[in-house]
Amino acid sequence: MGNSHNEGKKFLDSVHQYFDHAAKFSRLDQGILAQIKACNSVYKVSFPVEVDGKIEVIEGIRVQHSHHKLPSKGGIRFSMQVDEEEVKALATLMTFKCAVVDVPFGGAKGGVKINPRTSSVKMLEKVTRRYAAELIKKNLIGPGIDVPAPDYGTGSREMAWIADTYQAFNYGEISALGCVTGKPIGQGGIRGRAEATGLGIYFGIREALQDTELLEGLGLEGTTMEGKQIIVQGLGNVGYHAAFFCQQDGAIITGIAEREGGIFNEKGIDVQEAFKHRSETGSILNFKDCKNVENSTDLLEYECDILIPAALENQINVKNAASVKAKIIAEGANGPVTREADDILIKNKVVILPDLYLNAGGVTVSYFEWLKNLSNVRFGRMGKRAEEASYRRLVNAIESSSGKTMSVTERALLTKGSDEISLVRSGLEDTMINAYHEIRGVMKEKKIPDLRTAAFLTAIEKIGVSYESLGIFP
Ligand code: GLU
Repeated sequence: MGNSHNEGKKFLDSVHQYFDHAAKFSRLDQGILAQIKACNSVYKVSFPVEVDGKIEVIEGIRVQHSHHKLPSKGGIRFSMQVDEEEVKALATLMTFKCAVVDVPFGGAKGGVKINPRTSSVKMLEKVTRRYAAELIKKNLIGPGIDVPAPDYGTGSREMAWIADTYQAFNYGEISALGCVTGKPIGQGGIRGRAEATGLGIYFGIREALQDTELLEGLGLEGTTMEGKQIIVQGLGNVGYHAAFFCQQDGAIITGIAEREGGIFNEKGIDVQEAFKHRSETGSILNFKDCKNVENSTDLLEYECDILIPAALENQINVKNAASVKAKIIAEGANGPVTREADDILIKNKVVILPDLYLNAGGVTVSYFEWLKNLSNVRFGRMGKRAEEASYRRLVNAIESSSGKTMSVTERALLTKGSDEISLVRSGLEDTMINAYHEIRGVMKEKKIPDLRTAAFLTAIEKIGVSYESLGIFP
């Protein structure tokens, strides 16, 4: 991965350059554009943690890129690579991601410099709780302030610890569980959140495959998933589910790249089996009927229809971009393609489905989870009229804070007893389809050649409207 400071800087530079490029197509005032681009707040903290008599000093950070809508929203990353610029880049992307899918949140992101693979569960719990406490202390987390979620290196377990820590400091606060999303189902989580990012990626690719105008000249056969050859980098929560849903719909997963190496089989790899194999043996290598690929990043350059980078940023860069043979790059990760690489790929007629759209399924379902947590009213236990009145009040409050009319799915999620998983999935499906066509509309209207610029511009315009109507304090 190289020097982490340089990687973070490269990532932030890329995001800023993508922004600047898209901003050229905008009608907004330069001042407003500068306001949209700027990071609103950065909070850095160091704290000691003691495990088994040993004290370690841990660094953490939380960046709130944008307060144009509250709460701000974004995951927490546990990795030794975490640095300020990386987290700023990720927080910035969250702002645009939320706007693209009309989720009424500002963007944020957190990071803790710790290796979750080599740390004990005890250590991880202490670090997570102390990090949460540092944010609570400074009023930097809460259902209406800033709402974390899982990201690289964290999952529902860490989110439960954060929720519990928050509740300990805010005893009795109604809707306290809305302080974090991606929680376990029994702790205020929502069914379908774990697979949401991957499923959203599948919906996004499926939509793009039907877009013959966009894909003209790529030489893809057919407009469905059937028979499409896919290589995925990263078999974590995002990569695994993306590959799984594509495979279920007829795609052939020919390659899987992981940290320790990669595997390839042009006849196809059973994703579930490969995942099981990796859990059991600790490595993706030596999976039945597959060729081992020592240097897993080589797989990024293999022949395929769709390449899904679903690991970390800057994976496709000036060094390998020209060798990429995929027809479509579906960005599961945040920032997997650097700005320079993006230019090369566009020149080579590779179609990129950009992160800020394609992986927005995670935060979309986080929004559903948050709505569910806010609606702590006990439906079915009050009198019918009181219940309807409180339901209407809640819907009104959410609609006026977001400036949007809630969809049938969102409204239904506020009531209990509905078939949660199908509601979540259909809400996610609608969201991904609608956002796709909105971006394509902007692309055509403004004669923009690529989806990323169009997605950025779509987001910039929405955020701009919001800042314009807010005015400036004081
Ligand atoms: N970490 C995820 C992302 O990068 C999810 C964020 C969220 O659900 O708030 O989009």
